[in-house]
Amino acid sequence: MRLVETIGELRAEVAEQRRAGAGVGLVPTMGALHAGHASLVERARDRHALVLASIFVNPLQFERPDDLERYPRDLERDLALLERSGAQVCFAPVAKEMYPDGGPIVSVDPGTIGATLEGVSRPGHLSGVATVVAKLLCIATPDAAYFGEKDFQQLVLVRRLVRDLSMPVDVVGCATVREPDGLATSSRNARLSVAGRAAATVLHRALLAGSAAWRAGRGPGGAETVAAQEVRAEPLATLDYTAAVDDRLTRLAAPAPVTGVTGPFRLLVAATVDGVRLVDNVEVPS
Ligand code: AMP
Repeated sequence: MRLVETIGELRAEVAEQRRAGAGVGLVPTMGALHAGHASLVERARDRHALVLASIFVNPLQFERPDDLERYPRDLERDLALLERSGAQVCFAPVAKEMYPDGGPIVSVDPGTIGATLEGVSRPGHLSGVATVVAKLLCIATPDAAYFGEKDFQQLVLVRRLVRDLSMPVDVVGCATVREPDGLATSSRNARLSVAGRAAATVLHRALLAGSAAWRAGRGPGGAETVAAQEVRAEPLATLDYTAAVDDRLTRLAAPAPVTGVTGPFRLLVAATVDGVRLVDNVEVPS
C-alpha cells in the first residue's frame, strides 16, 4: 500500500489508475482505525480496483480544541490495518495541505440537517464534516464513497451533499460493526475507563428497549421515551437525546407526532458516558 501526503500526488495516482481502467472507491476516516473502518474498506475492495482510504483529523469539525488535541493518532497501526483490509492507497495529508490558508473562506452549509440533533449539541460540526467531505470528493474523484450507518446523520448529510451539488459519486452506507456486547465500535471507546466501558453498553441496550416498545405498539414517541429511560437509569451516563427519525431526519415524534408511521425508521441515541460522548442508532423495522 502506498502512503500519499499531498493532493497533487493523489490526483496523479488516481489519474494513472484511471488510465489503466481502474474504478475508484474512497473511504474517508479520521484514523485510530478499528473493525468498523476495516468493514468499509472491505466493502469497497469488493467493487473497485483502486481503494483509497483517507486519514485526516479535520480541525473544522471539532468545536473544542482539547477534543481535537486528544483525538487518538497512530499512523503506523492505521496503515497496517488498511493494508490488511485491502486498501491500495492511504491519503494522509497534514492540515496545512488541506487548508493552506489556515481554514476555508468558502465552506459547505449543511442547512436544516446541520441545525438538528448533532448540529444542536455540536455547533459547526456538520458544516466541518460537509466541507471536508466535499474537498475529499473533489480531490479523489471516486466512483463511490463509503460511510458508516453508525454516524447516521453524517450519512444523510453526505447523501444530500452529493445530490444537491450534483456530484457524480455513489454514496454507500455500511452496517454498524459492534463489539460482542453490542457497543458500537468507535475510536472514542479507547478513552473509556473500565467502569465507563461497562456502562457504555447502555446505548445499545436503550436502542433495543426502544425498538421493543415500538413493536409493542407504543409508536415512535414510545420508542424514544423508553430508550431515554434506559439511558437515564445508568448512573455513569448523561443523556443528550433519543430521536426517532426517517431517512431524511424528520423527527417522527416531536414536537408534534407524525401520524400513521409504519416504519421502518431510525432510532438514534447520543449520550456522554464517563466523560466520552457516544452516538449510536438502529433501524427499527416496520
Ligand atoms: P471516523 O474515523 O470516526 O470519522 O469514521 C470514519 C467512517 O467510519 C465514518 O463513515 C463512520 O461512520 C465509519 N464508522 C465508524 N465506526 C463504525 C462502525 N462501528 N461500524 C461501521 N462504520 C463505522
